[in-house]
Amino acid sequence: MHASFLYTMALGDSYGMKYEYLPHTTNADLSDLVHAEHPKLTAYKKGDYTDDTQMSLANMELLLAKQSFDITAEEFVSAWLHTFKRDPHVGYSRHMQKLLAECETPAEFVSQLAPSSRTTSGAAMRAGVFGVIEDIEEMKRLTLLQGRITHNNLAGTTSALAVALSVHFLHHGGTRQQLEAFLTAQLGEGWEQNGIENDPGNAMMIVTQALSALKNAKTIADVFLNVVNQIENSDTDTVCAIAAIIASRCTVLEDYVPETLKKGLENGTYGADYLRKIDMQVEAIFPRKMLY
Ligand SMILES: [Mg+2]
Repeated sequence: MHASFLYTMALGDSYGMKYEYLPHTTNADLSDLVHAEHPKLTAYKKGDYTDDTQMSLANMELLLAKQSFDITAEEFVSAWLHTFKRDPHVGYSRHMQKLLAECETPAEFVSQLAPSSRTTSGAAMRAGVFGVIEDIEEMKRLTLLQGRITHNNLAGTTSALAVALSVHFLHHGGTRQQLEAFLTAQLGEGWEQNGIENDPGNAMMIVTQALSALKNAKTIADVFLNVVNQIENSDTDTVCAIAAIIASRCTVLEDYVPETLKKGLENGTYGADYLRKIDMQVEAIFPRKMLY
């Protein structure tokens, strides 16, 4: 049985937010799995998920609504604007937050982006949801189509594909032990170096950290703690959100996420219960096919 999909992502995202780009503990244990405010981002509300989950939700709802893979770049941008405006969240880059708040149309939004120069994690953090698609070519095509709107370079596209392919492989029967070989077969030898820069906000840095958090974890809670404990300063909410959505497909991982963290997750109109409802639709419409 799979864990919940976007709900698990939101748990990781909301937990990791308290350490985003702050020097943090590297010996966290289960008692650390609670929500907290962010000392610098005062607009952030404890227990809320952030941009990572919100953009993934936008993409997932669009996939569920369309029930076809005939989706345009404009429709993706409309979905991001709609999902943000109905329930504004923080955690986006300053520029993205401003565009989502101020732009009324996809054309206006796109005209203010410089996608070739953005090597941050925006394309990757919303890519995991495409992994549930059975047809790998359609899955990769949509991952790239939506990714290139904001992050059209080697770091952006490779990171987005790595996340979507990881979810795809595990959702459709692949094992954690075989994941690395699958990614190498798909992305080429040495793919981890594509566009990597020594910067905690670099998309490839974030994705490789998320994948390494999966290793040696016995539980979903271990995955969250590995994210925090592997490095002192990182984009913890995004790394944890990506690690969580991938880990949610990994059937060998037990849950062990403390009830306090689950109870602390926001549960307004688009919070915990809403995400779980979407997750049930995902399992019904994009069921596991044993492809690997
Ligand atoms: Mg975030």
